[in-house]
Amino acid sequence: MTTQYKNLINGELVAGDKWIDVVNPANEQVIGQVPDCGQAELDKAVAAARAAFPKWKKTSMEERRACFAKMADVIKANSDELMRLLTSEQGKPHMQAGSEIAGCVGMTRALPMLNLEEKISEDSEKRLSRTRRVPVGVVGGIVPWNFPVLMAVQKIVPALLSGCTMVLKPSPFTPLATLRMAELIAGVFPAGVLNIITGGDALGPLLTSHPDIDKITFTGSTATGKRVMESASKDLKRITLELGGNDAAIVLPDADVAKVAEKLFWASFYNAGQVCIAAKRIYIHEDIYDELSAAIAAYASAVKVGDGAEQGTAIGPIQNKQQYKRVLELIADAKDKGYKFLVGGDHDPSIPGYFVPVTVLDNPPEDARIVAEEQFGPVMPLMKFTTVDEVISRANASDYGLAGSIWTSNPEAAVAVAEQLETGTVWINESMHLAPNAPFGGHKQSGFGAELGEEGLLEFTYPQVITIAREAA
Ligand code: NAD
Repeated sequence: MTTQYKNLINGELVAGDKWIDVVNPANEQVIGQVPDCGQAELDKAVAAARAAFPKWKKTSMEERRACFAKMADVIKANSDELMRLLTSEQGKPHMQAGSEIAGCVGMTRALPMLNLEEKISEDSEKRLSRTRRVPVGVVGGIVPWNFPVLMAVQKIVPALLSGCTMVLKPSPFTPLATLRMAELIAGVFPAGVLNIITGGDALGPLLTSHPDIDKITFTGSTATGKRVMESASKDLKRITLELGGNDAAIVLPDADVAKVAEKLFWASFYNAGQVCIAAKRIYIHEDIYDELSAAIAAYASAVKVGDGAEQGTAIGPIQNKQQYKRVLELIADAKDKGYKFLVGGDHDPSIPGYFVPVTVLDNPPEDARIVAEEQFGPVMPLMKFTTVDEVISRANASDYGLAGSIWTSNPEAAVAVAEQLETGTVWINESMHLAPNAPFGGHKQSGFGAELGEEGLLEFTYPQVITIAREAA
C-alpha cells in the first residue's frame, strides 16, 4: 500500500479525507500520498497558529534558539532517510539531495544567530526614542518544488525566530520529505507554532486570501508571485516574494578556459537546471568562445543523466510533467528555428520518466525563446560578445534581476562590471553561493523584499518606535 504522509496541525499529525498522489519523476510511479486540504483544514491550521501566537511572541530569543538547536539535531540524525525521500520525489541525485538536507541543518543552526536588535534613534535632553521589532503575526509560507525542504526551512526558521507563528504549504509535487520532517520535529515547537498542510492548486489562493494571515512569504514563479501580490493586496498582507530569474554568466576574455568550463557547466546544470539562480544565459567573449564552447561541450557529453537514486547519476529528471513538456517545447522551438546544437537536442519519448538530455546551444540569437525565457531545465545557450558595455546591456535587458556571475582571472577588476548588473546577487568566479547572514532577493520582477540575513529576518516584523519625553507629564 502507498505510504500516506500526514499534515502537522496544532501539534498533531492529521490524515486527509482526500489524498493527492506524489510521483517519482524518474519512473512516474506513485511513491506516496498527502492530504488534499481545502478551506476547512486551512482554517484549523490558521486558527492554531493564531492561538499559539500570543505566547510564542513572548518567548525569548534564547528559548526559540533552543528549539532550533533541537530541530537541527533531529534533521541531522535523520538525514539519510530525508535525502532518499527527497531524491525519490524531486529527482535530484543522492549527492545533491544530501547537500540540500545538509543545507537545512546548516541554515537551522546559522539563521538563529541573527538578532533583532533595538535601535536608539534619539537620546537627547528632550527624549529617548527607540525602535524595536515586533512579529507581524501569523505567516503563510508557500514553497516550490526545486529545493522543497531547504526552501521550507529558509522560511520556517526566520519566521519562528522573529516570534511569528506559521502555516506552511509545500508544493503538491514535492511534499513528502517536508511532511516527514514535520513529523520528526512535531514535538520541538509548542502546538500551533508551526503547521504544515498540503493541497492541490486551490490551496495556495485560499492561503494568500485568508483574512487571519498577516504575511505571506512565497517562493515560486514570477507569474504566480504577481497573483500572490494581488491577492495579498486585499487586506494589505505583508509579502516577501522570491521569484524567477534568467541569470547571465559573463565570461571575460582573460578567463582560464580549462578551469571555467566545468564550473560554468554546473552553474547551469545543477539540479537539472531547475534552480532559480542557475546560469541561464552564458555570454562568452569572442576571443575565447570557440575554445570554451568546445570544452563545455566535451564535458557535457560525458555527464550521466539518469535516476538520481542510481550510483553515478549526475543529472536527474525534470521534476514534473508540466515542466518537462515546457522544456521540450523550448528545445523544439530552437530546432524549428534552425539554431545550432553543440550537445543534445534529441529526446527519446519511449524512456519512462521526465528525462531531458543535456542540451548546449551554439550562439542562438538574443530573442530566441530559449534565451529570453527562464528555461528551468538542463539547457545552456552559449552566446558570443565583443565588448563589456555590450554584454552588460544584453545581460540587463531582462525583466528579471535575480543574480548573475562573472568569470575572469582578474576578479578585483570585475567588481566594476558586477556593480553594473541589475541583480540582487553577483558572483565572481563562483555561483549559487547563498549565506545565512547575507540578504538574498531579486531586483525587478525577480522578487519583492529579501530572504536570509538581517533584512530577511526583519521582513517578519513591524518596526515599533517608542518615545519617552524626558520631561514628565
Ligand atoms: P509556482 O509558482 O508554480 O509554484 C510555487 C508554489 O506556489 C507552489 O507551492 C504552488 O502550489 C503555489 N501556487 C500555485 N499557484 C498559486 C496561487 N495562485 N496562489 C498561491 N500559491 C500558488 O513555481 P514552481 O514551478 O513550483 O517553481 C519554479 C519557479 O520558482 C521558477 O520560476 C523559479 O525560478 C522560482 N524559484 C525562485 C526561487 C528564489 O528564491 N527566487 C527559488 C526557487 C524557485
